[in-house]
Amino acid sequence: MKIAIVDADLIGRKKHRFPNLACMKLSGYYKELGNEVILKTDYNDLEEFDKVFISKVFTDTYIDENILKLPNVEYGGTGFFYDKAEPLPYDIEHHMPDYHLYDEWINNRIANDEKIKQFEYYTNYSIGFVTRGCVRQCSFCVNKNYKQCNLHSPIEEFLDKDRKYICLLDDNIFACKDWKSVFDSLNNSGKRFQFKQGLDERLLTDEKCEVLFNSRWVGDYIFAFDNINDKEIIVKKLELIRKYTHKRCKFYVFCGYNHLNPEHYDEEFWERDINELFQRIEILARYKCLPYIMRYKDYELSPYRGTYINVSAWCNQPNIFENMSYQQFCVADNKRRGGNSSTWRYYEKLINDYPYMEKYFSFKYNKESAMNF
Ligand code: SF4
Repeated sequence: MKIAIVDADLIGRKKHRFPNLACMKLSGYYKELGNEVILKTDYNDLEEFDKVFISKVFTDTYIDENILKLPNVEYGGTGFFYDKAEPLPYDIEHHMPDYHLYDEWINNRIANDEKIKQFEYYTNYSIGFVTRGCVRQCSFCVNKNYKQCNLHSPIEEFLDKDRKYICLLDDNIFACKDWKSVFDSLNNSGKRFQFKQGLDERLLTDEKCEVLFNSRWVGDYIFAFDNINDKEIIVKKLELIRKYTHKRCKFYVFCGYNHLNPEHYDEEFWERDINELFQRIEILARYKCLPYIMRYKDYELSPYRGTYINVSAWCNQPNIFENMSYQQFCVADNKRRGGNSSTWRYYEKLINDYPYMEKYFSFKYNKESAMNF
């Protein structure tokens, strides 16, 4: 059979640089059965294939509905069905991913002068889930239907010995009762590794910190601070983290979502959400942690939409966040854009509407004092 695999996020998102694990597993499985499998990087001539598998992770990646109606097309993934997405059939889910699915696409990009470094997840990492599931059931999360976190795959199932690193996509490793044996096997693999989806710092203990911060980790430690209501426990765990490491930690900071009344937004909510966003940024910076702003899609409905964009641009570029206050960033960005930019208009609108928020604007992350724990 001639099979095309389509990673819809790769086609629909310009800056997307992470391989689709389901696509790699499908490719590995069908190639082993003797089929001719290719990665298709456009939607042309799909009728020439016996089978076309389309997968996407992000719900806002665009795809023409008519393509999904073609008789030879099968599609799936959280990008289409979110929390209702069907898992892959067992034999495919537990098949070794085809780590060469993207080779030709990467070679073409590099030939077009793109830097090899941005493809490192395609070239240097073995990728998989050691556990699946979570215990928290956050209403906005794709994992909200899970009630437990359990072992899913042994590392050997997706480990490519020729790759230097391992990237784990687990939802909440510390919620799994077997977390320690997972860390043991990762440390014994001889590879450096990371849990990319963020760790649940609310579950940290001395024992977990001891193991985590002495592991063969690669990259930043990533946690999450999704809700200001967790402030007390987050601060407690930040203190704990800083007992064990001075290394840089990153926190996903979720915003633009009404935890109290999802999908209901009014002026009072937007004010509160932006205020809480700045508060969380400030708390994290006090502990030498970098915020990484994750905007829920509904931020687009906000009269302060541009503020969410400004704050993300300020925080999500560590070089900028570490060296500029929010005010300095907005001034510099406005100048770069020739003045009277939307960056500046949103900056002024926020001050005019809520003058008390100005107190956040001159605050600056201080590498030196933050180091001083
Ligand atoms: S803790 Fe994280 S993974 Fe678990 S449900 Fe909440 S957002 Fe999702």
